[in-house]
Amino acid sequence: MTALPQSSKKSVTVIGGGVAGMSAACALAEAGLQVELVERRGYLGGRASSYLHPGVGEVIDNCQHVLFGCCTNLIGFYRRIGVADRIHWTREMTMIEPGGRRSRLGPFELGPLRLPAPLHSAPSFLSAKAFSFQDKLALGRAMRAMMSLGPADSSQDPLGDWLRRHQQTDGAINRFWRLVIASALNAEIDEIAVPYAAKVIRELFLNSPEAGSMGMSTVPLGEVYAGVTPFLSGRGGGVHLNTHVEGAAWDEETSQWTIRTRAGEHTSDFVILALPFEGTAQLLPDLPPAEGAAELAAKIVRHEHWPICSVHLWFDREITDLEHAVLLDREIHWMYNQSRLQTGRGGHYIELVVSATRAFAALPREQAIRQAVTELAEFFPRVKEAKLEKVALVKEVRATFGVPPGIDSSRPESVSPWPNLFLAGDWTATGWPSTMESAARSGHLAAEAVCVRIGESRKILNADLKPSGLMRFIGEWRSRASR
Ligand SMILES: Cc1cc2nc3c(=O)[nH]c(=O)nc-3n(C[C@H](O)[C@H](O)[C@H](O)COP(=O)(O)OP(=O)(O)OC[C@H]3O[C@@H](n4cnc5c(N)ncnc54)[C@H](O)[C@@H]3O)c2cc1C
Repeated sequence: MTALPQSSKKSVTVIGGGVAGMSAACALAEAGLQVELVERRGYLGGRASSYLHPGVGEVIDNCQHVLFGCCTNLIGFYRRIGVADRIHWTREMTMIEPGGRRSRLGPFELGPLRLPAPLHSAPSFLSAKAFSFQDKLALGRAMRAMMSLGPADSSQDPLGDWLRRHQQTDGAINRFWRLVIASALNAEIDEIAVPYAAKVIRELFLNSPEAGSMGMSTVPLGEVYAGVTPFLSGRGGGVHLNTHVEGAAWDEETSQWTIRTRAGEHTSDFVILALPFEGTAQLLPDLPPAEGAAELAAKIVRHEHWPICSVHLWFDREITDLEHAVLLDREIHWMYNQSRLQTGRGGHYIELVVSATRAFAALPREQAIRQAVTELAEFFPRVKEAKLEKVALVKEVRATFGVPPGIDSSRPESVSPWPNLFLAGDWTATGWPSTMESAARSGHLAAEAVCVRIGESRKILNADLKPSGLMRFIGEWRSRASR
């Protein structure tokens, strides 16, 4: 990206050091603006961060954060700060039933022989023991319908109704839909808008093997962001941790914003609010009055949180040689073998993830841990002989926002009711569900909006991956139908 001429060097304050704020800040610093990134916590990352857990004396991520090949803006942000090589990519996924029977899903590869998308994973799917013949027929039917879902299908019906209309079997619903939707969208199938589910299915299973590859960090998330501070300070900006923004004032005469923190005030030409929806709502009363502010507040009220819990277990021996697995028919959904994924770690560290379950999030600590370990032993019998050395339970009750039918009208664009103040955050209008990719997209969109306002418009948003194989034609047909 070419930098702006020094004469037009403008200053920006980015409030919120999550993925949205970091992506916006780094893109604008690269474009030649002077950027200050302000974060209330003592570390960067927001809802995707790592910290030293006092109970176990280990640095842990607040939860395993998975990305996919289709997350082009998150990958673009990682490339910008030089950490894209910290991501370990895989195209295979093991599903395990209680009792231990395994099914492997992934693209078909026999030497140089590949199958074109959307058929690339068909052989592994057809041979998966986790699904009956009827489940496979039902899933094939639903996938075909989602492949070509047009704008007319963007109904107000939740996914659950759509699945029932498409005669999905209990096996397909419980072992595929609930699991995929809980993992990717962190909500129940009756709370999800059909177009969001279709987007996830197309990107993860149909568009191309590249789009569906799964990425996991080989280092704690904090190390992934370690490059942000030098990136900004090397371009004349900086990062301010432990700095809670309490309000902001606009000066009409100088056309500048002054943000107020307990540590003092800071003035800049532009502000990007890269906060979660509830953080934005908290700040609204401390922004100047503006036409449209009440409408924004009304949009925020329509958003709802969903929880994610993770159970971090250290055993005295290895309980499985798998790097990760999907666990069927139980509360725990995913197993990540962190000692294998994050190779710098010693010990035998397993992380379990429970998504979209308010009931599990409400359990007392001891009961939640007991249930998770008991369930884990049903998939990996070695757990019964192993000694559990230490354990941490992390409950994130405000992990993600939901995407029920009609939510798009409550996701604001980056241009805000205030002059020279832009909105970012995973919940803004990116078309993506609550993910790091949505956060990175929102950051890049807000950065583009700042550049447009300066009169130096430029492309910052990374392009989507193009569908491959037969999906190219289906994609073209779909975009023609939506015009
Ligand atoms: C447990 C869990 C598991 C998840 N798993 C995945 C996954 O596997 N894959 C995936 O893609 N996504 C996952 N997500 C979702 C993903 O983490 C979020 O969508 C994304 O990180 C949101 O980024 P953000 O920058 O929009 O918001 P945030 O991360 O919330 O960042 C906002 C920042 O603003 C700061 N802030 C708030 N108020 C102020 C203030 N007044 N002044 C200064 N700073 C302030 C906050 O401290 C925070 O750092 C998961 C989330 C959780 C919680």
